[in-house]
Amino acid sequence: MIGVNHQNMNETNKYVLLKSIVTQAPISRAELSQITGLNKMTVTGLVNEYIEKGIVGECGEANSTGGRKRVFLDVLPDSLLTLGIYIGRDILKVGIINLKGQILQSESLDLSFMENNDVFIKSLFMLCDHLLETKYKEGIWGIGVSCAGPLLAKDGVILNPPDFNNIRDLPIVERLTERYKLPAYLQNDMCVAALAEVYFGNKQQYNNFIYVGISGGIGGGVIIDKKLYTGSSGLAGIIGHSIVEMDGIQCECGQCGCLEKYSSTRAAVRWAKNNGASKELTWMELLDKATKGDEICTKAIERMMNYLAVAIINMESAYDTECFVIGGDLHFCQDIAIHHIQEKLQKRAFSWGKITEVKVEPSSFMGSASFIGTVLKWSLQVLWAVHHLSVQ
Ligand SMILES: [Zn+2]
Repeated sequence: MIGVNHQNMNETNKYVLLKSIVTQAPISRAELSQITGLNKMTVTGLVNEYIEKGIVGECGEANSTGGRKRVFLDVLPDSLLTLGIYIGRDILKVGIINLKGQILQSESLDLSFMENNDVFIKSLFMLCDHLLETKYKEGIWGIGVSCAGPLLAKDGVILNPPDFNNIRDLPIVERLTERYKLPAYLQNDMCVAALAEVYFGNKQQYNNFIYVGISGGIGGGVIIDKKLYTGSSGLAGIIGHSIVEMDGIQCECGQCGCLEKYSSTRAAVRWAKNNGASKELTWMELLDKATKGDEICTKAIERMMNYLAVAIINMESAYDTECFVIGGDLHFCQDIAIHHIQEKLQKRAFSWGKITEVKVEPSSFMGSASFIGTVLKWSLQVLWAVHHLSVQ
C-alpha cells in the first residue's frame, strides 16, 4: 500500500523550505509560508530548527503593512560545504563550494594524459586529499560529482562517455564514499549546470529554458516549469548527439553526423588542422588566431556556429522554450555564438508568427556552471535526510 509517511513528509517540508530560503533570500517567514504553501506555524517551527543548527540566520527587517516588523532570513552560506568534483573531457576540477554556490577554494588538473580508471582515481584522490586538509575540512558534509554522460546517477557509476580519456565503467561514488566516509552523489554535468542557473544564476525569470554547454563535447540540460526534465531514461537534452549532417562524421555513440563532431571545441580544432592549420593547434590558440583575422581559424568558428544554430533551432522546434543559455568553454566566442543563434532564431520566429522572441543568453557562471552545480541536488537533500536535522 502506498501511504504518506509522516517522517518523510516532515523531511520534505524541511527540504522545500531550505531550498526556498537559498533561492529567494532575503525572505520573511510570511513570504516563505506563501511560497511553500506550508502554514505559518510549520514555517516558524522549521525555521527555528534551522536557526538553532546555525544554518539559517536573521538578516534585517522592514515595516510591514500591519505595523509589525517583517524579519528577513537567509542561509549562512558556509554552514554547509560541498566537496565539488567536475570531470570534464579535458579538465578535472575539485573545489569547496558553499550553500550559495560560491567556490571557496579549488584545484584543477589536465585530464588529457589519463590512461585508465586507476590513474584517474589516483589523481582525483590526490586533489581531494589536499582540499580536505584545508581549514574548511570540518564544514564539508558530502561530495557532489558531475560528469559527462552516459552515467547511472542512481548507482553512482560513470559508464562510457565517448572520447573520455579511457575513463569508463567507474563506480565513482563507491570509491569516494569508501575513502572519505562522506555521502557522495553523481549527476550529469549538463543537468547540474542547468540547475545551477535555476538556483544561483540570473535566469530565475524563465520557467522554461535549455542550457547548452559547449566544450570538448556538447551537452544540454532542459528546465521545464523551473524543474529539471531528464526524460524517460535520463537522456533528455543530449543535444551533442542530435544529427546535423546526414551520413556525416562517425561519432563514438554509434550514429553519424552528431553535432558534437561539428561544433565542439575539439571538432573546430580538428577541422582547422585538417584544413591547413598547425598540427599542434589548441582551442585557445584557434580563438586567438581568429581574433587576429586568420582565415582558417575564422572559418572553423563560422562552421562551428552554423551547425550549432541548426541543432538549437531543432531543439526550439521540439521544446518551444523561452531561452537558450550558452555556457562551456567558448570564452570570447560566446558572444559570437549568442549573436549568431539569436539571429537564426529570430528569422524562424518570423516565419511561424511567434510573438515572443526566444532569448539567447550567456551562462551566469562562464564555464563553471557544471562545477558550481555539484553543490545541488545532494546537499540540500543530505541536509534534511542524512545528517544534521534527522540524525543528532
Ligand atoms: Zn553521437
